[in-house]
Amino acid sequence: MKAKKIKKAGNTEIPIIKYCKNKACACELPSNNKGKYCDKCRRERAKKVREAGTTVGGIALAAIALVPGLKEIGKFTKK
Ligand SMILES: [Zn+2]
Repeated sequence: MKAKKIKKAGNTEIPIIKYCKNKACACELPSNNKGKYCDKCRRERAKKVREAGTTVGGIALAAIALVPGLKEIGKFTKK
């Protein structure tokens, strides 16, 4: 039995090939890819952001930890 393939006229979807925005990578992105980077680059970027975030967070935490200490020092110097 032969199955007839019905070709729909006017349904010519031209796949738009997108490329990774990372110039060092520039790999082809799958059509279902959301965003401008491929999965690999997105992961790497996320990792970098996370690393930067932890660094910034660490500094912020250090600053927060220092503030009460400075206030304490202020109290002692006022006396
Ligand atoms: Zn990439």
